[in-house]
Amino acid sequence: MRRAVILLAVALAAALVAGTDAAGRPNRFESKRAFAFLRWQVELGPRPAGSVASRTLAARLVKLLPGARYQAVPGGLRNVVYTVRGRDPKRYVVVGAHYDTKDYPGFVGANDGASGTAVAYELARALRPRTVRPTVVFVFFDGEEAPDDSSFEQNGMRGSRVAAQAYKRAQAMVLLDMIGDRNLGIPREQGSSDRLFARVRASASRVGAGRVFAGQTGTILDDHVPFARAGVPSVDLIDFTFPCWHKSCDDLSAVSATSLDVVGETVADVLRGF
Ligand SMILES: [Zn+2]
Repeated sequence: MRRAVILLAVALAAALVAGTDAAGRPNRFESKRAFAFLRWQVELGPRPAGSVASRTLAARLVKLLPGARYQAVPGGLRNVVYTVRGRDPKRYVVVGAHYDTKDYPGFVGANDGASGTAVAYELARALRPRTVRPTVVFVFFDGEEAPDDSSFEQNGMRGSRVAAQAYKRAQAMVLLDMIGDRNLGIPREQGSSDRLFARVRASASRVGAGRVFAGQTGTILDDHVPFARAGVPSVDLIDFTFPCWHKSCDDLSAVSATSLDVVGETVADVLRGF
């Protein structure tokens, strides 16, 4: 018992010093910080595109990520773009997440909106220049949600359409959407690049999250689609089996910091692999 306690203490101390987990894997993603940012977004209340709360969130991202800027989206909307320079100035990849929430009364989108935004934010905050080969362009999309789900193809993905035209030479695009679900499972979405998803899976295995990224699902219309249509190999990391999708139960009780960590560590590893 005592020996076990000492060993545990030594392991924890080593982990703190080296920035690794108990299994010796590097810890590259601070899920507590990410979860705090998720919580802060939820506390703003509903954040539909164009709302005061949505603008407050965008302004917070610009303030927290020095050098971040707005990218105009038709209808008075705005993406937030933040670039971290890589070692190879000619290559770049895009990591994206939408920050608006579905416009239903009282809908706070802890998973659908806040989770992807929180993970993209924490990845952006922690990534130091020239630590990965390509430049990484983080894009927080405005206006992903359509006023009505049946018109999503025409009226949704508003911010990502603009960003896809601006960044159509990207080497890859990784979309984070609904990745905070407590019971997380991220199958390969059919419209996603096979090769890029294989990279994601390999990274997930390396960080000890291989089981989360298993199986296949059908085609999902999401913010990666404008990039894929522009010829950018893209993946949609999404758990679309979420029982609270576009329901009022998509609140803090539906999400977990562990899920954010699984995705954050995986994508941090993917970025290092390019
Ligand atoms: Zn949604």
